[in-house]
Amino acid sequence: MKDKRSVSVVIPAYNEEQSLEELYSSLKNVLGRIAGKYEFIFIDDGSSDESLEILHSLREQDRSVKIIAFQRNQGKSAALSEGFKAARCDYVVTIDADLQDNPDEIPEMIEMLEEGADLVSGWKINRQDPLTKTIPSRIFNLVTSTVSKVKLHDFNCGFKAYRKDVVKNISVYGELHRFIPVLAAWEGFRVTEKKVTHF
Ligand code: UDP
Ligand code: MG
Repeated sequence: MKDKRSVSVVIPAYNEEQSLEELYSSLKNVLGRIAGKYEFIFIDDGSSDESLEILHSLREQDRSVKIIAFQRNQGKSAALSEGFKAARCDYVVTIDADLQDNPDEIPEMIEMLEEGADLVSGWKINRQDPLTKTIPSRIFNLVTSTVSKVKLHDFNCGFKAYRKDVVKNISVYGELHRFIPVLAAWEGFRVTEKKVTHF
């Protein structure tokens, strides 16, 4: 089972020099355990810190690290979109670079894909953000869910797992990364959610 599994991890990063090495090692650890083939696609979104240099040094040690570098900041949707185009594996995981998500949840997300879901969207329960962020977010989720009729609690979570078909068939630009589950559901894909912890 493990040997046949292939997973692309897509990581948008904008000024994330503090967390890239730690994120990379925990991802490597998890993917090495559960997948026969994997790649880490980092998109440096025009960072002005040392993010790109750190990514190049990871790439020196490990050819499964791939780097896409933007000359200037283009936003998370553009970064994800390029990552989705580059992804080669059967399953694609997106994770934020800021260490707020736990890579140990990836195996269970992949299992949910293998059991028939096309997209597994993280649902941050215990959210570690101030009220100025959580209240607008609750409103956003309620409105999005009501209008789109897609029944999720947390649309905007950066931590998601997809079957490759999904990322090759949705077009993400502008601020559309916040609505990926809606785009996927409207294309007829089976969208589900998994509770995830938030650090
Ligand atoms: N990010 C990006 N380009 C941007 C802003 C953010 O690639 O212009 C990345 C960022 O490095 C992180 C992810 O997108 O990996 C989510 O960003 P952030 O934590 O700021 O968003 P939030 O968690 O508040 O939704
Ligand atoms: Mg974040």
